[in-house]
Amino acid sequence: MGIDLGGTKIAAALFNADGEILNRERMETANARTAKEVVQRMVEMIHSVSMEHPVCGVGLASPGTVNSKDGIVLQGTNLPEWNNIPLKKWMGDALGIEVEVVNDANAAAWGEYVRGAGKGSGNMVYITFSTGIGAGIVLDGKLLLGANSFAGELGHNIVVPDGPACICGNNGCWEMYASGTAIRDSALELMLSNPSVIGELAAASGEEISAKHVFEAHRQDDPIAAQVVSRAVHYMALGLANAIHTFNPDRIVIGGGVSKAGDLLFPALKAETEKLVMKPYRGTYEIVPAGLRDDVGLIGAAALFHT
Ligand code: ADP
Ligand code: ZN
Repeated sequence: MGIDLGGTKIAAALFNADGEILNRERMETANARTAKEVVQRMVEMIHSVSMEHPVCGVGLASPGTVNSKDGIVLQGTNLPEWNNIPLKKWMGDALGIEVEVVNDANAAAWGEYVRGAGKGSGNMVYITFSTGIGAGIVLDGKLLLGANSFAGELGHNIVVPDGPACICGNNGCWEMYASGTAIRDSALELMLSNPSVIGELAAASGEEISAKHVFEAHRQDDPIAAQVVSRAVHYMALGLANAIHTFNPDRIVIGGGVSKAGDLLFPALKAETEKLVMKPYRGTYEIVPAGLRDDVGLIGAAALFHT
């Protein structure tokens, strides 16, 4: 069983040994505010989704900082008042089944490694360029957790010491330069003094300006969009180069909303990364789009129980 606990919804799915989904459910978390209430809902969901099948384990992907060894959510981003919640114990006691808890980016990385675009690689770095940046690392076939299972926070690597303030309290984190939010902010800044079709595209879609409109405008040869994308690609590649030098992966899997830019992103990102890595690393890795979409956290969480 895999569970993906998000800020607004909970998804649960029952998998067979081949990783196929047998049954699934989704629920809004809106009116279950306390951790106890959310746990109660998840326990009910598991009973309902399992349809009396024997379940060998429940893998739970949680946002925020997670102590995976003890299965405790130390601080749940997007989950207000989630501090030191012993999910593994509460869920395990209620269900009588083994429960594992991992951070959602690590779950997604594991999902891509076992069932997605990371399959067949031995050393993989997974990066999701979304509202923020998430990451997870698989080395020698194992999910890298580290001493406190906090490994993989590449989004908060400091890339510009005197850069803008990040929610984490530091300045100039990678996600301030290479996330979807950063792409939007850099477009908004340039649009103050330059005409661009980015705003028109957003208005026509009835949406707020976002990275998506920047890439759409780039497809229409808008010069401001080209400038924003080129800056973003440079910073994305800079972080990938740091990861390549640190982990020596054979594959880098790129997910998240921004990766939907596809051919407007990947060739440029590959070229820029090759420019930034040291010579011996050139040609030693591939950069590929993620293979799994919205279910990646669920799939990765469930796959903690068999590979
Ligand atoms: P979340 O952070 O909520 O998980 P996503 O992974 O979907 O959400 O990432 C959202 C980001 O992806 C936004 O910045 C959005 O503008 C961007 N995005 C969505 N679609 C595209 C697209 N086709 N091309 C480029 N960026 C996109
Ligand atoms: Zn930060």
